[in-house]
Amino acid sequence: MRQVAVLGATGSIGRSTLDVIQRHPNRYRATVMAAHRSVDDMEALCRTHRPLHAVMGDPQAASVLAERLTDVPSVAVSSGAEILDDLVADAAVDTVVAGIVGFAGLRPTLSAARAGKIILLANKEALVSAGRLFMEAVRTGGATLLPVDSEHNAMHQCLPVDLEGRPNMSDVEKIILTASGGPFRGRSRASLDAVTPEEACAHPNWSMGRKISVDSATLANKGLELAEACWLFDRSPEQIEIVVHPQSIVHSMIRYRDGSTLAQLGQPDMRTPIAYCLAWPERVDAGVAPLDIVAAARLDFEAPDLEAFPCLALAQWAITQPGGMCVFSAANEVAVAAFLAGDIRFTDIDKVIAGTLQGIDLAEPESLDAVQALDQAARDVADKQIAGWFTRPEA
Ligand code: NDP
Ligand code: MG
Repeated sequence: MRQVAVLGATGSIGRSTLDVIQRHPNRYRATVMAAHRSVDDMEALCRTHRPLHAVMGDPQAASVLAERLTDVPSVAVSSGAEILDDLVADAAVDTVVAGIVGFAGLRPTLSAARAGKIILLANKEALVSAGRLFMEAVRTGGATLLPVDSEHNAMHQCLPVDLEGRPNMSDVEKIILTASGGPFRGRSRASLDAVTPEEACAHPNWSMGRKISVDSATLANKGLELAEACWLFDRSPEQIEIVVHPQSIVHSMIRYRDGSTLAQLGQPDMRTPIAYCLAWPERVDAGVAPLDIVAAARLDFEAPDLEAFPCLALAQWAITQPGGMCVFSAANEVAVAAFLAGDIRFTDIDKVIAGTLQGIDLAEPESLDAVQALDQAARDVADKQIAGWFTRPEA
């Protein structure tokens, strides 16, 4: 029986993970579940899954949850980053699903890496901000790192891997990273000025949390994923080609030196990559309908439009600078939150990122403290810019 810690249990990735776990009660058990402050959702999940520990990032949310769960004494409710660090590192847990959104997910994921756990990585921001540190922790801690992000999961599926899940890249010529293009594919930049958070979050193929949905609409997500692929597969950005594939059926490809290109295909449903990672190197039922390739009928591919979606071009530059992607990711988080709050326009997101990259002395952060300091410095610059040209759209 695998004991799984589900970080971000109340989110899109967390729920998909718990759905797969529930289908295989003899193989997996969610013994630790963590979220931030969604008490109602966490209470319901605790009643269904009966974890041993429920951890809330917000202490007030933890006390409300503890009160609500007095009739379920087997669930220990707590709060605090140290507690979560210790729980994911505990011998009782063997698998950690990193499904917290944003930089907040870095600390517990790093703790799991240092403790040598099997890590199912969805939280790309952690890897992007602290890539060197995180990969080093995976190596020295003896962790097994399996990518949940659908594109990187597809790459993992198309590569030969060793017993620890580490891919062998020796005959790989190119990684082809696919992008859906998001809900605004084909639109001009000028036409994007007035789009609303609801429109930005209405992804044509995937159902995801709001932050990654906006990232997908700006193509910032593809920038984050470019950096993610570089770290996971030890590539330079030039060895990765980004291709827009609007149907989201081919989840990425690997081109080998002999002219072969391998692709992984599937429904746009995160339960497939999650089940792949949970069961690896075996396979289990994910509850996903089989792909009907005749019904799908067409697979289209095109180049990304960097003029309409400058976030991707910014990421392609930032990735070449020391600490650049930590700053990119932090500024993007601030900008997306401001956009979702109605404080800035969709087309301001790339301006905030560009201004922040310009306003910071870039340097490679060598420790967790340095990563946290660089992340905070970037947030401060991004916040200041937004406060400076506050452009709340008309209601
Ligand atoms: P959601 O917004 O749906 O969920 C985020 C989860 O993180 C929630 O459980 C939330 O808890 C929790 N959380 C947020 N802040 C904290 C905190 N400080 N401490 C503890 N928990 C916290 O996001 P997604 O599931 O969509 O995305 C999660 C991650 O996976 C992101 O990094 C995303 O980029 C990545 N990913 C997601 C995909 C998807 O299909 N959704 C695909 C590929 C990658 P609460 O509910 O209490 O706020
Ligand atoms: Mg992805």
